[in-house]
Amino acid sequence: MGSIQSRQAAIGYKTANQRPSCRNCKHGAEVFADHAAPTEGPRWECGRYDFRVTATAICDRHEPQAAVRHSD
Ligand code: SF4
Repeated sequence: MGSIQSRQAAIGYKTANQRPSCRNCKHGAEVFADHAAPTEGPRWECGRYDFRVTATAICDRHEPQAAVRHSD
């Protein structure tokens, strides 16, 4: 067995935030409402189909966001 990272890569392991969802779809966006209560969670909307979604939702039209490059 290799390192944890190599074993995860071999099986396509993904964290919850890496799984395809509205959060990482190019049409999903977090919206900020001025009147939101402090206890209210983040709001997400689908800009393509124009309705409210949740960050962890998904539909058959999911399109991944462009890969984000991180500098070392
Ligand atoms: S509803 Fe579908 S198209 Fe819209 S943000 Fe979510 S995954 Fe993307």
